[in-house]
Amino acid sequence: MSHPLLDLTPLTATHFADIERRVASLLRTEQDVVIMQGEALLPLEGCIKGAAHPGSTALNVVTGPYGQTFGNWLRDAGANVIDLAVPFHTAVTAAQIEQALAEHPGIDFVSLVHAEAATGNTNPVAEIGEVVRAHGALFMVDAVASVGAEPLLTDEWGVDLCVIGAQKAMGGPAGVSAVSVSGRAWERMAANPAAPRRSYLSLLDWKERWIDGGRRALLHAPAQLEMLALEACLERIETETLDAVIARHASAAAAMRAGVLALGGGPAPYVHEAREAAPVATTLRAPAGVDASELVAKALAVDPSVPLIAGGGALASEMIRVNHYGVDAAPGVVESSLAALGAALGEYGLTADVEAARKAASTAW
Ligand SMILES: *Cc1c(COP(=O)(O)O)cnc(C)c1O
Repeated sequence: MSHPLLDLTPLTATHFADIERRVASLLRTEQDVVIMQGEALLPLEGCIKGAAHPGSTALNVVTGPYGQTFGNWLRDAGANVIDLAVPFHTAVTAAQIEQALAEHPGIDFVSLVHAEAATGNTNPVAEIGEVVRAHGALFMVDAVASVGAEPLLTDEWGVDLCVIGAQKAMGGPAGVSAVSVSGRAWERMAANPAAPRRSYLSLLDWKERWIDGGRRALLHAPAQLEMLALEACLERIETETLDAVIARHASAAAAMRAGVLALGGGPAPYVHEAREAAPVATTLRAPAGVDASELVAKALAVDPSVPLIAGGGALASEMIRVNHYGVDAAPGVVESSLAALGAALGEYGLTADVEAARKAASTAW
C-alpha cells in the first residue's frame, strides 16, 4: 500500500544544502548555516558546549526559563558564569549588559534569548549586539521564538551563533533546527579541546565533514520528513513574504494586548511595556485569586481551538499564554481567544466585556 509519508526517496546532499541556503537567507546571514537533526535544544547545547570551557567567563542573560537552562549548560562546561537576571515582566537593556561587561572584563561569551515564548518578552538584540561586539565577546542568540515573528538580522547585529527552530512563528516542524556560525565562533570551537567531537552535539563535525568537504556528503541519513516540512515552511514564508509574516505577528500581539485591556475582568498583560512584549505570544497575569491553569481549562472547555496555555513550572498558577503564532497569528484566533477568556472569567462572576474587547482588537490589528 502506498502512503504519503512512507517509501520516500532519500534526501540528497544537494537538496539538503539548498534548504540550508534558504535558511541562511531567512536569517539574513552570509555565515555558515548548519541544519541540526534534532529539536532546537540540540544546537543550543552544541553551541554552549562547543564555545565554553574551563577558564572561559560567560555572561548569561536570564529573561525566562531558557536562560536558566543555558546557565546550567555553561556551568556543566566548566565556565565561570555570571547570570544577569531580569524580572520576567520586562526585557534586559543594552545598558545593563554594558555594565556587566564593564564589571567583569574577562567575559568572553554572552548568551541571550531574543524572544521568550514562555514569558512573553523580547530583548533588544541590535543594541545588545553593539555592546557585546565592542567588548569582543562571542555572542549567542536563541531566536527560536523570534524568527518569523520579528526582524532577525543575524549579521547586521553581530550575532556569532544564531539558533532557530521552525516550530513557533514559522509554523514548521519541531524535529530539525538550524544555527548560523561566524568565522570567529568556528575558531573558538576549534581551539577548545573540550568542544564535542565525534558526537551528535558536535558542530565541528558538521564543519569538518560537511562544510569543508564542499557539502557533498552528509554525516548520516537526514530526518527526511522534517527536512521536507522545513522546506515547505520556508516556501510558504517566501510566498507570503517574510515581511508580511512578521507584520501578521506584530498585529496579533497588538490586537491581543488591546483586546485584553478592553476586556476587563482582571487579566492584565504580563509584560508591562508593549515594546518589550514578544510578537510571538502574549502572556497575561491571571486576576487576583484566580488560578491561571484553572482559568485556561475553563476557556478551553468553551472553545478547544484557542491557543491558550498556562505558564510553565512556577508560573502555572499566575500566567496565561496566548500562543498566537504561525497560522494562529490571525484576527479570528485573537477574537476567539478573547471570547473564550471572557466566558471563563464569567464563570468566576467576573465581568468581562467581550464586545468591547473584539472592537479594540480589531482596531489595533
Ligand atoms: C520554544 C522555544 C525553544 C524550543 O523549546 P521547546 O520547549 O522544545 O519548544 C527554545 N528557545 C526558546 C526561546 C523558545 O521559545
